[in-house]
Amino acid sequence: MRVRLHEHEFEQFISENEVNAAVTRVAQELNAHYAGQRPLFVGVLNGAFFFATELLKRLTIECEITFVKVASYHGTSSSGKVTDLIGFNERIEGRHIVILEDIVDTGSTIVHILDLLRDRHPASVRIATLLFKPDAYKQQVPIDHVAIRIPNAFVVGSGLDHNGLGRNLTGIYRIIDQPA
Ligand code: 5GP
Repeated sequence: MRVRLHEHEFEQFISENEVNAAVTRVAQELNAHYAGQRPLFVGVLNGAFFFATELLKRLTIECEITFVKVASYHGTSSSGKVTDLIGFNERIEGRHIVILEDIVDTGSTIVHILDLLRDRHPASVRIATLLFKPDAYKQQVPIDHVAIRIPNAFVVGSGLDHNGLGRNLTGIYRIIDQPA
């Protein structure tokens, strides 16, 4: 299955069924880990809306969810440093927090979000992500719950976009004509 988004061609390499099975496994991990507790899930917009929805459908524990946007400062390099959490007014002191990400690549985004959340003194913070690129990851912080590990390629679908397009695609698509 192929699709064109703007100037690039993508092909599906992970099916919707595989995504669903992986999200179910992460939900089981979280149901077990947080049994008897009431964690607050923090979805990182825009991409994590899909993972957050599919995950919460499968959680049986008591839980709350909120969403946050990150403000990034982009210098001359392409890696944006997260400078602020937008729309995050929750009191999280003493709470168990689970950050929900669509994808962890180099890890710089998630590490900055972690730092900003830890400044507010939660009881604990764990990370759950739909996709993880282990070969690109440059941080020491463990990613606690990973639905699917993928190789180093640009991907879209299941909430992830290419310049705004592709978030609605089911399954995961990878770019097949990435310029060098
Ligand atoms: P980081 O390198 O900080 O872990 O990832 C930064 C951000 O880059 C992610 O939150 C995501 O928005 C974007 N990103 C990284 N890899 C991909 C990818 O393969 N596809 C898409 N659509 N976004 C990606």
